[in-house]
Amino acid sequence: MVHETDNPRSGADADAHARLQYNGNSRSASWHYTVDDKEAVQSFEHIWRCWAAGSTTGNNQGIQVEVCVNSDGNYLKAIQNAAELIAKIMKDENIPISNVVQHNHFSGKNCPRNMREGNITWSQLITMVKNANGNVQQQKPITDNNKYRVLTGTYATKQAAESVLDVLKHRFGWLAYIEQDTKQWRVKTGTFTGMTAAQAGAEKIKAAKLAQIANIVAI
Ligand SMILES: [Zn+2]
Repeated sequence: MVHETDNPRSGADADAHARLQYNGNSRSASWHYTVDDKEAVQSFEHIWRCWAAGSTTGNNQGIQVEVCVNSDGNYLKAIQNAAELIAKIMKDENIPISNVVQHNHFSGKNCPRNMREGNITWSQLITMVKNANGNVQQQKPITDNNKYRVLTGTYATKQAAESVLDVLKHRFGWLAYIEQDTKQWRVKTGTFTGMTAAQAGAEKIKAAKLAQIANIVAI
């Protein structure tokens, strides 16, 4: 699902938006990728639900791609990079072009705004995606491909761990598991791609006061 950040400020690029998510992202929204004229940054694994679509189906099924519109960036180049990223995601996840949609498709929001206003049209983007399908091997938008999990500190009772597990699964929409550690229990998340995403996950757990300790482990 294609979005635009709608943030024209200078410097509001992919790195800045990824760090916004890493820093806990005070807005109740999240997304998988942010793309600008230089790079694409992945913040969440595809298996995670992100909250960007404004509809349940869109959130549950969508892979959210935000295109930067920062005034110091090259919008056309950002769109071209987004097209290459979308082509790669389609290939990795076996998604047909008919399922590449605008945010507007699910909620009626005027997003991606510039594209909807015809700056570069939606059909131009779709053509770019189709053309990019031939050479997706060449592009490497993800800066850190290492996998990490977040482990909480231990809880004295299994019930305590289960209530944390419940929040991670149902409020955050994450994969998570309970592990026994001698006579105590801890909660372990599914995998994050990249340290930035793992740190964001650990911070989110701590910010929600679900655990005092949230350790990141490489896998
Ligand atoms: Zn949007």
